[in-house]
Amino acid sequence: MQTSAFQQINHNSVYLPFPVQENQLSNLLESFDLLGVQGFNVTVPYKEKIIPFLSDVSDEAAFVGAVNTVKKTPEGWIGYCTDGSGFVRGLSERNIELRSKCVLMIGAGGAAKAIAFSIANNEIAKLVIVNRTASKATALKSKLNKSFPKLQIVVNPNSTEDYDLLINTTTIGMDGISLSVPENQVNHCKAIVDIIYNPPQTPLLKLANEQGLVWANGIDMLLYQGAEAFEIWTNKKAPIEVMRKCLEKSLAFAK
Ligand code: NAP
Repeated sequence: MQTSAFQQINHNSVYLPFPVQENQLSNLLESFDLLGVQGFNVTVPYKEKIIPFLSDVSDEAAFVGAVNTVKKTPEGWIGYCTDGSGFVRGLSERNIELRSKCVLMIGAGGAAKAIAFSIANNEIAKLVIVNRTASKATALKSKLNKSFPKLQIVVNPNSTEDYDLLINTTTIGMDGISLSVPENQVNHCKAIVDIIYNPPQTPLLKLANEQGLVWANGIDMLLYQGAEAFEIWTNKKAPIEVMRKCLEKSLAFAK
């Protein structure tokens, strides 16, 4: 996806995988300096562990405590987290609005943290967090309260209400069978986004489709977190359609 995007805008770069051992992390940036690497993505399990080696991190990365994109600058290596901003950009492409909306988010893991920060930044009115481990949801609420004191946040409520948007950030549904919310929750929501991209239609999204709701899967988030990284590295607009085609092709191969 990234190499095709570089080619599309005639940017003289390639995107390569570097398998790295944990004990090599401290020497990684020096090696990248020698090799002329200008930027890179970081994935599990180094999204947090890379931070001590960076010169600075963005607000989103500081909030999430994780970095997925790094850029070389005259001031040093700077870390970003593009998951939340990528998620929000995917929503806006589908005309799903956030300002003053009431959002139900299932999950309180790494992806949920990034999404919560970005949707709060986009001025939602209320966030309801439902998570199997209540303490993780409560910890996320406390963190959000500090950065967004006006945002109303509720954790694991006893009763249900109507939501403008439901977001599934858990792994439930990856098996193609399990449903991440009770079935009767679905018709209390106007739009549903599942950040799972494989399978492309989880049981939750099948229900949303059957009930004629606006819905989207995790391909948008995957695409736009990459597009945001591309724009950080190049300072140029990402060629979205080329990137989407590449991504869909590779996901089809992965099946
Ligand atoms: P994570 O940090 O491990 O969080 C997993 C979340 O799922 C937690 O809230 C966890 O609840 C919940 N969960 C897992 N199994 C459960 C079960 N059996 N019952 C109830 N809750 C359960 O993982 P993550 O990195 O946030 O990733 C979560 C999902 O998002 C994955 O499917 C991943 O592929 C997807 N994702 C997609 C994108 C994208 O670009 N589209 C990006 C990142 C992640 P507890 O707190 O109770 O354990």
